[in-house]
Amino acid sequence: MSEQYDAIVIGAGVTGLYQLYKLREEGFSVKAYETGTGVGGTWYWNNYPGCRFDSESETYGYSWSEEVLKEWDWTEHFSPQPETEKYLNFVADKFDLRKDIQFESKVTTATWDEAGQKWDIELEDGSKASATFLISATGPLSSFQLPKIPGVESFKGEWTHTARYPKEGLANNNDFSGKRVGVIGTGATGVQFIQEAAKTAEQLYVFQLAPEWCAPLKNSPIEKEEMEKIRANYPQMFKECIDSFGGFQHKFDERSIYDVTDEEREALFEELYDKPGFGIWLGNFAEIMNKMDANDLISDFIARKIRKRVNDPKIAEQLIPKNHGFGMRRVPLETKYFECYNQDNVNLVSLPDTPIEEITPTGVKCSDKEYELDILVYATGFEGVMGALNRIDISGKDGQKLKDKWADGPRTMLGMQIVGFPNLFTLVGPHNGATFCNIPRCAEQNVEWATDLFSYMRDKNLKQVEPTLEAEDAWTAHVDETATHTLFPKADSWFMGINVNNPSKKRTFMLYAGGQQNYRARCDEIAEKGYEGFVIK
Ligand SMILES: Cc1cc2nc3c(=O)[nH]c(=O)nc-3n(C[C@H](O)[C@H](O)[C@H](O)COP(=O)(O)OP(=O)(O)OC[C@H]3O[C@@H](n4cnc5c(N)ncnc54)[C@H](O)[C@@H]3O)c2cc1C
Repeated sequence: MSEQYDAIVIGAGVTGLYQLYKLREEGFSVKAYETGTGVGGTWYWNNYPGCRFDSESETYGYSWSEEVLKEWDWTEHFSPQPETEKYLNFVADKFDLRKDIQFESKVTTATWDEAGQKWDIELEDGSKASATFLISATGPLSSFQLPKIPGVESFKGEWTHTARYPKEGLANNNDFSGKRVGVIGTGATGVQFIQEAAKTAEQLYVFQLAPEWCAPLKNSPIEKEEMEKIRANYPQMFKECIDSFGGFQHKFDERSIYDVTDEEREALFEELYDKPGFGIWLGNFAEIMNKMDANDLISDFIARKIRKRVNDPKIAEQLIPKNHGFGMRRVPLETKYFECYNQDNVNLVSLPDTPIEEITPTGVKCSDKEYELDILVYATGFEGVMGALNRIDISGKDGQKLKDKWADGPRTMLGMQIVGFPNLFTLVGPHNGATFCNIPRCAEQNVEWATDLFSYMRDKNLKQVEPTLEAEDAWTAHVDETATHTLFPKADSWFMGINVNNPSKKRTFMLYAGGQQNYRARCDEIAEKGYEGFVIK
């Protein structure tokens, strides 16, 4: 007999932990399954040196526990990965969450049982469990992607993908002195790793396919006194976050870029470039997100900064993106990243000029020469948003596979539920408002909305919920329509389902770009109307 629960949660990251807590609080029986050996999700897996938030620490923490808010002190404005992992362990311990989590348990299949009105899941080791509700909290950036290069696993030195970086570090606890280190990939993760590895590596080779528009992080410590001020301001701060477009305290400038003088525009750009966090992206003139001529102005500004910061003009040009404008892809935040390229030990290898032919046992062979390495790090990202769901064999009504249903891109209601897959909830999933968000702010909303629905159904003795086809079509059309009001579709990125290492993917918008505050309001309205757009029976 397999175990039977009211709900099964897949994943024990920020989202899954809260979902587990919330269901337990509401009196549901619940079990969470997690591939890793510990809690934390992103902050459990990404142990590479330099990994940290681009969200302000205090805006990222949970808002739902007064005790946690009172007891936990953040020590840096942009918390490093070890501290965040510690934080999530602190929460797990405080609420004794581990007793309902089964670790080292990868869910491989999930099958809807129409007669039994339940989901049957199977783990990698063959064991089984069932539940009325199946909740995926599998993460938008959890299914890592190795590059599609011949010989990728043949390197005989130490190698890893950043999302599987060993906790004990590479080399001697990440001291790369005397080592030749190669890194493939220059997205947000690559940038964080490079600026750390450059500090000690004898030689660091950065293999770059395309640069990103990076902007300064401006991290600094949080002293005790400042932490007390942050604590006193929590209610106001959380309110500002949930009223904003992206779940941050950053808000677009109220002026139009077209109504200010050149000097006023430059003054705002300078001010934001000098400030911490995503302000340069999400606190800028709103038109940089949706008008190409406005976007050209900020791209030109950042390009000028890069030219100033990099001594060699040829390298500076190679570090300036040419195929997309600023903020059309995820903006990496950096700390002295560009200055790394002024160091003698850092070498930029431009792959459009000299493509990688293969990974060899001793290094990376490009079209012009072979780079001999001691350590090789793949910072090649993830199969974004849909990846973790795609890697589970999910079958809904009449045996329909989720993979087939989504072959041309996601179709969902609120990014939360899918026609043909009753009682399945995809938290922080494709087309969900939590995808373009300071994630915990929106993941909390997802968890609370779903749990309210489960309670509503329990109160009315209802067993099954599924959106209507009309509602799903309308939401999917709305998601696509809101994307057309941004510049995101003009760039190739994981926002658009594009990953050069996974070329089979269709180009389709993965996130929700209508603003998390609007998403939140829509979810509330639907609930108030008795879950309009859903059939509950
Ligand atoms: C390096 C990095 C930095 C980031 N920085 C920020 C930031 O500054 N701000 C921000 O808002 N977001 C950031 N993100 C996004 C980050 O993923 C989210 O903030 C958040 O951690 C997502 O939490 P989650 O619980 O939804 O998913 P995750 O943290 O990804 O957790 C999902 C968990 O599900 C497990 N899982 C997946 N599939 C299965 C399966 N089949 N069976 C069992 N378990 C499974 C995984 O092992 C994982 O532990 C960052 C992501 C990365 C990779």
